[in-house]
Amino acid sequence: MTDWTEELLAPGLRLSYGVNRVLAQTHTPHQQLTLIENDQFGRVMLLDGVTQVTTADEFIYHEMLAHVPLFAHGDVRDVLIIGGGDCGLAEEVLKHESVRRVFQVEIDVAVVSSARRHLGAINAAVFEDERFHLRIEDGVRFVDGLTESFDAVLVDSTDPIGPAAKLFSAEFYRNIRRCLRVRGVLAVQAGVPFLQREAFASTVSNLASVFKFAGCYLLASPSYIGGHLAIGWASDCLRLDRPSVDRLEQRVAKSGLGLRYYSSAMHRAAFVLPPYIAEPVKGCIARPEGAGP
Ligand code: SAM
Repeated sequence: MTDWTEELLAPGLRLSYGVNRVLAQTHTPHQQLTLIENDQFGRVMLLDGVTQVTTADEFIYHEMLAHVPLFAHGDVRDVLIIGGGDCGLAEEVLKHESVRRVFQVEIDVAVVSSARRHLGAINAAVFEDERFHLRIEDGVRFVDGLTESFDAVLVDSTDPIGPAAKLFSAEFYRNIRRCLRVRGVLAVQAGVPFLQREAFASTVSNLASVFKFAGCYLLASPSYIGGHLAIGWASDCLRLDRPSVDRLEQRVAKSGLGLRYYSSAMHRAAFVLPPYIAEPVKGCIARPEGAGP
């Protein structure tokens, strides 16, 4: 008989995966880590019972978190990733030839070792790439004392509870702003607005309280149940939401990347918000003035 996992998504709502095989199950010093195989989603990593990544649909989230800011910027060299322990995001970032260094700060070494061992399909290239540098530390503390600067900071974190809570605060965003270059951009995992309305709204509002331009864009990933997932973005210079269509198309075509979700058309479409998602963040999304990339 099949075993089933149980993911509590919200009060009164659970998701279960049929488990073909358990690949890892351990209490790390930070969280409960589970890695299973499932018919529909392939290999699935859960932290504290919450889906983090699946080999079947990770491309959707990782492509959108990486390529929207990177193609909008057009010449990203140094990238800081906070969290992202499965290393699928780093893999997407390293596809950009302009990138000369990816610095990733992840709190839990067990997530990285488990992902390296079992999720090679989504991250093997990262560990062969000398541009990739990993540091095991709390991202909040790391950014607090940071003196280096970056073109893009990507926050690929768990939901705003436990050690990840401060990764969604205005204070953390202020520290990130300090280490962004002039055209620098920040993009952050901002939750599923339908199920996490308050966390989503406060994330975008915190971004808007710190940066000149801020907002969110959407993606639809089957394993993040509840409709669209939002990515929050912010910059003092660059408007991710108003790309020059020609320039964006040229950059994407020139990159030669064979992507499965991101395209220049998806880039533009992702910023169209249905009213139920726009409403809780109205007043904090980017004002009309300001240059597109
Ligand atoms: N895509 C996923 C999602 O949204 O469900 C996130 C994936 S990634 C595995 C999330 C990572 O954030 C975890 O590995 C977790 O250990 C890490 N993390 C949580 N809090 C952190 C912190 N304060 N500093 C650095 N990494 C943190």
